[in-house]
Amino acid sequence: IAFSTLPLHPATLDNLQQLGYLSMTPIQAASLPTALAGKDLIAQAQTGSGKTAAFGLALLERLNPRRFAVQALVLCPTRELADQVTVEIRRLARALDNIKVVTLCGGVALRGQRASLENGAHIIVGTPGRVMDHLARGYLSLEALNTLVLDEADRMLDMGFFDDIATVTKQCPPERQTLLFSATYPEGIEKLARQFMRTPEQITV
Ligand code: AMP
Repeated sequence: IAFSTLPLHPATLDNLQQLGYLSMTPIQAASLPTALAGKDLIAQAQTGSGKTAAFGLALLERLNPRRFAVQALVLCPTRELADQVTVEIRRLARALDNIKVVTLCGGVALRGQRASLENGAHIIVGTPGRVMDHLARGYLSLEALNTLVLDEADRMLDMGFFDDIATVTKQCPPERQTLLFSATYPEGIEKLARQFMRTPEQITV
């Protein structure tokens, strides 16, 4: 199925073509209509399935570049994944004007990350512990957030991040969209969904 069947920005459609994304992967075809409609979503997806574009295109479509506030947050289990997600979102956003993506992971000095936040960020990609740290210090505000993504949620739970995810999520506006991606569906995912999502649609491909 072609991306042009979706309500995407014309500049984004051109960009996807230039990137060689000619048709949607199964996870994209199954999740993008729901995600673009603003509904909560639980999608069962493996690495390499194209899941980053599934949530990336949805959050970019809702983003207002002229609003200098964090509007989307992607929580990831590891720095490696956060870096990959950041690269992919920048690629997807390159036809849109000046969208700033800031990566917040542990093992890096807080000071530089704080400076990046002060320079303005539209999208944050990070690990739960470090994002929580910036929130606690008042360096980061999620008041203007409209999209929360939990990427590889099962791995985040395996790593013991449930409480950190809960703390961060409680600082997001209740009127947000939450998109959860996970390769497996352990009990903890159901608990996350019950506590932090609103009648999510479930997608398996
Ligand atoms: P991901 O599962 O998000 O890590 O994506 C895996 C790889 O597939 C990445 O290198 C993407 O750039 C690429 N990709 C994602 N969606 C598409 C698509 N619709 N067509 C071609 N390549 C894609």
